[in-house]
Amino acid sequence: MKVRVGVNGYGTIGKRVAWAVSQQPDMELVGVVKTKPNWETLSAVKRGLRIYTLRENMREFHARGIEVHGTLEDLLNSVDVVVDATPGDVGATYRKVYENFARKAIFQGGEEPNVAEVSFNALVNYDEALGKNYVRVVSCNTTGLLRVIYAISKLGKIKSVRGFIVRRAADLKEVKKGPVEGIVLDPPKPPSHHALDVNTVIKDLNIVTYAVVVPTTLAHIHTLQFMLERPVTSDEVLDALSNTPRILLVNGSLLKSTAELRELARDLGRPQGDIFENIVWSDSVLVRGSEVMLTYAVHQEAIVVPENIDAIRAMTRLKEKAEESIKITDESLGIKRWL
Ligand code: NAD
Repeated sequence: MKVRVGVNGYGTIGKRVAWAVSQQPDMELVGVVKTKPNWETLSAVKRGLRIYTLRENMREFHARGIEVHGTLEDLLNSVDVVVDATPGDVGATYRKVYENFARKAIFQGGEEPNVAEVSFNALVNYDEALGKNYVRVVSCNTTGLLRVIYAISKLGKIKSVRGFIVRRAADLKEVKKGPVEGIVLDPPKPPSHHALDVNTVIKDLNIVTYAVVVPTTLAHIHTLQFMLERPVTSDEVLDALSNTPRILLVNGSLLKSTAELRELARDLGRPQGDIFENIVWSDSVLVRGSEVMLTYAVHQEAIVVPENIDAIRAMTRLKEKAEESIKITDESLGIKRWL
């Protein structure tokens, strides 16, 4: 029996998670909830998805000639798990609704950690999400941080992590967001919330992050410094990174910008040009004794998608082990197979 999944909120994350669910051998996408009959609804219709909406919005959809399959409540009656991909802080307002229908729910990183029983990253704490009813998949930046921290932790105990995060200002479609000029300290006084969010998953890690926002829509870039308990070599670090799922190495002589990276993903036919992996520049890896530094890119629109799929498997106990779920997810989405 396949796990039946619904997606509430068909925006940047919701549409990608809906597509990814439809690629899984053990899941069925029942439908998606749209609140407005806008261009993203048109994309859902053209993709042949079942559209649901809020009861009070039904008439607006009918007036536009868009067939609606039912209400959010109808969708909840037909699924085992709902992936909430509504805007930040809106998801929390739905928690009671999901509870009333006794449905398992996944929330996204824009929600406060207390929206769920556990904040989740597939590599780091899959086990903690086993059988849970409410799980929060951490944000794009936090997901990127956790994957690399996981990889480096394979080399030995991490004494500290210091990070500098260059954040994209907005996603491509977000025409009202900025900045369109200038670089904004986010926030001026460290730590940025990313370090705190990492600590919701790895409680005892000594981590501080600084962040700035720059006028781009393509991707984030992180530069991290690790202090380890033992000296390591560059080869050990590169092996640890390349042997970790969802981390891809590129060479700076091949490409050295997020623009070239995103274009390459489009050239190679990635769905919507999406990059689900952390892209680590191998030449950025600098090792001096027990100090390791490196730089990588995070495609903000895509990186959390495989984590949502693994969260579904953990909560429904489709797979008891992280590596089993990650393998199915990664094969189905072509992860680490395109570059
Ligand atoms: P989005 O604005 O692109 O999509 C949200 C969707 O929810 C839209 O389709 C919107 O119409 C719909 N919506 C709004 N109010 C609703 C309501 N009351 N009920 C149902 N649907 C409603 O947002 P997004 O970027 O996809 O972000 C969703 C979540 O994912 C947020 O928590 C965000 O922080 C997180 N996230 C976003 C990114 C990113 O880069 N965009 C990356 C990682 C995590």
